[in-house]
Amino acid sequence: MENIKQFFPIFDNNKGLIFLDSGASAQKPLSVINALDDFYKNDYANIHRGIYKLSDVASSMYDIARKKVCDFIGAGSPSEIIFTKGTTEGINLLASSFSSLLNAGDEIILSEVEHHSNLVPWQQVALKKNVVLKFIPVLSDGSLDYEWLRENISDRVKLVSVSGQSNVIGLKNDIEKIVSISHSVGAKVLIDAAQLICHYKVNVSELDVDFMVFSGHKIYAPTGIGVLYGKTQFLRELPPYQFGGDMVDRVSYDKATFKDIPEKFEAGTPPIAGAIGLGFAIDFINEFGMDKIERESLELTSYTISQLLQIDGVKLLSSSDANGVITFVVDGISSFDIGSYLAMKNVCVRVGKHCSEPLHLKFGVESSVRLSLGIYNDKSDIDTFIFELKKAISVIKGV
Ligand code: PMP
Repeated sequence: MENIKQFFPIFDNNKGLIFLDSGASAQKPLSVINALDDFYKNDYANIHRGIYKLSDVASSMYDIARKKVCDFIGAGSPSEIIFTKGTTEGINLLASSFSSLLNAGDEIILSEVEHHSNLVPWQQVALKKNVVLKFIPVLSDGSLDYEWLRENISDRVKLVSVSGQSNVIGLKNDIEKIVSISHSVGAKVLIDAAQLICHYKVNVSELDVDFMVFSGHKIYAPTGIGVLYGKTQFLRELPPYQFGGDMVDRVSYDKATFKDIPEKFEAGTPPIAGAIGLGFAIDFINEFGMDKIERESLELTSYTISQLLQIDGVKLLSSSDANGVITFVVDGISSFDIGSYLAMKNVCVRVGKHCSEPLHLKFGVESSVRLSLGIYNDKSDIDTFIFELKKAISVIKGV
């Protein structure tokens, strides 16, 4: 988007910075930085514990942040919003709690495009509970094989957990289809929205997903804050994930009872400032509107892809209909060499397997280069990137 860099001090403080790695973590707007500064300077105290004014103010700021998240994702009630450390913790929370409801022989369906965060926790569940993991294949155009899902769904499947948008392929998955197929046998659906939430308006009630997770730091909020959304009934059925202060109702030396959601899943002092920062990041996003963010990100992505495909030897791993995430390799050139050259030119891209090692194995590539767009990127960033990429290729090839 044009002129948005002015809201992000990082660009003033790093002249010439071309930041194309927001899928790893996004930069922070001044409004979020100032909100944290104000909170720590003026209103800081622990929440839900003190009977003094500061604690009251901090508690209500934390509660307001929960309501902002609830409205942002269209949840039915703020109590369906559990604050976590991030996507990874949200999935681990669910894997730990959900596994107590599973029996040997039950099945969990993931997809071939998952981030390690939505793979490794389920592998651990499979090992401990003798549960079978199955994977929705990815097709050559980057979409998931929904026919495979239709054919493989059965009442043994208890959970279908897939990313709303892969951090390598960049294509939005058909969540409505996944939900309708999964619900036809009573399987629950978890959406890893770590990338999806950055580029699309998401409404959990309209999508009818049972659980969804995302990280604040990818949508301009501080690190250390994330969200697990769950439908009230399902969150109530799950056992707590961690135990300790603030999540208990009554405690004796030999037993304890637990509070209702959301506190039941928020043991100990939560990331108070992070949650408040997330609330301010949502205000920032809402000023532009997710519709506009989605539209402009799509336009910039297709411009980037069209420019990339004009370069000899470039092969896209991401879908040609990707949004905000563009992954590629260049024939005969190491992705690390490209990334290192670009880094010298102040162009920040991600190089490696992007926490998706099995998918890279499937593509038959050791590593790839990934650009991921944020609200502050514009056409001139892409033009500089393309210019430097062409130079990188000719320097590395020695031509
Ligand atoms: N899932 C996807 C699709 C991601 O892109 C990421 C971050 N790269 C994660 C999960 C993990 O997010 P976090 O590191 O914030 O927990």
